[in-house]
Amino acid sequence: MNDNFGTSGTVLVAGGAGFLGSHLCKRLVHEGRRVICLDNLLTGRRENVQALLDNPLFSFVLHDVIEPIPLDISATHIYNLACPASPRHYQADPVHTLLTCVYGSRNLLELARKCGARILQASTSEVYGNPHVHPQPESYRGSVNTVGLRSCYDEGKRCAETLFSDYGARWHLPVKIARIFNTYGPGMAPDDGRLVSNFILQALNGSPLTVYGDGSQTRSLCYVDDLIEGLVRLMNTPPLFHGPVNLGGPQENTVLEIARLICKLVEVEESFQFFPLPSDDPEQRCPDIALARRCLKWQPATGLEAGLRKTIDYFAHDAAYEPQEAQG
Ligand code: NAD
Ligand code: UDP
Repeated sequence: MNDNFGTSGTVLVAGGAGFLGSHLCKRLVHEGRRVICLDNLLTGRRENVQALLDNPLFSFVLHDVIEPIPLDISATHIYNLACPASPRHYQADPVHTLLTCVYGSRNLLELARKCGARILQASTSEVYGNPHVHPQPESYRGSVNTVGLRSCYDEGKRCAETLFSDYGARWHLPVKIARIFNTYGPGMAPDDGRLVSNFILQALNGSPLTVYGDGSQTRSLCYVDDLIEGLVRLMNTPPLFHGPVNLGGPQENTVLEIARLICKLVEVEESFQFFPLPSDDPEQRCPDIALARRCLKWQPATGLEAGLRKTIDYFAHDAAYEPQEAQG
């Protein structure tokens, strides 16, 4: 069994061309790690890792994790981030999303078993569904609809956690499960349809911000650099520490508060257009991060205003602008 605590060996990042994956690849390469980015480019973009393509430490493999992983790939550490994260994208082909979570996890776990690698699953706060316990500790088992619009993602991620847990027990694999809460920052895809990207692009364009429902539902946002730090720390915990561990921002805001703050930071007048709330949209979401504080010595370092300013700057100057269609 390999036991390189984050210092040597090749790291495989499945989903490495996506929002979080590309930040992770960049960080690992800058630390001098050899990185293989495996991605089918469903929601990821080659441009996200463009800056790494000429780096001898980095290689890109076009591959769908639903299919067995190519036999010549070997790694000491595997991050499984391969799965569309935005409701707009994961609902576009729900069966593919579910199979990505289940077959993708199985295929990567088989690879980890073959290589003796550590393997980390990017799970989600969605495993708590529309929670009845607030804030959500890892011990809360959730309230999830098995047959709704979000089920392909929520249940896929729940099943993946079970696969990770069972492989860990059966094969003594050092598996790690991170439950990630809403993360934002530079590098988000403009067509993602998520709260932060939609609101910032709409504000920059002088359009009304599209609020679903009455905007009283809550989310707790985490800046991308903080989240990546949490993932790396979790990967480097002792082999028997499996999690799951919540990684997210503990500051809870209503959607309307976030909309107002973005208008203020972009310096535009508040203007909102209200649409029906999509079904199964969680009413409240906030992580209890006591376990991450204790075991990873981790908590987010970036405040909401500071993180949003960096993200606004990115959308204003770097990201290709595409007007957003409201879902309603
Ligand atoms: P993203 O959509 O930007 O990135 C996902 C990446 O996975 C993309 O590059 C995509 O092309 C790739 N991918 C999708 N299906 C694949 C498949 N079958 N085979 C190979 N590659 C595939 O999303 P993100 O925000 O970077 O999220 C990354 C991971 O973190 C996801 O697993 C997501 O569920 C999890 N997560 C993210 C958030 C968040 O707020 N961003 C919150 C909770 C969990
Ligand atoms: N949302 C919104 N307007 C938008 C996009 C999202 O009001 O243009 C709401 C959405 O209904 C949800 C919250 O913002 O209540 C977060 O949505 P997102 O898609 O970012 O993430 P998730 O629902 O998966 O937490």
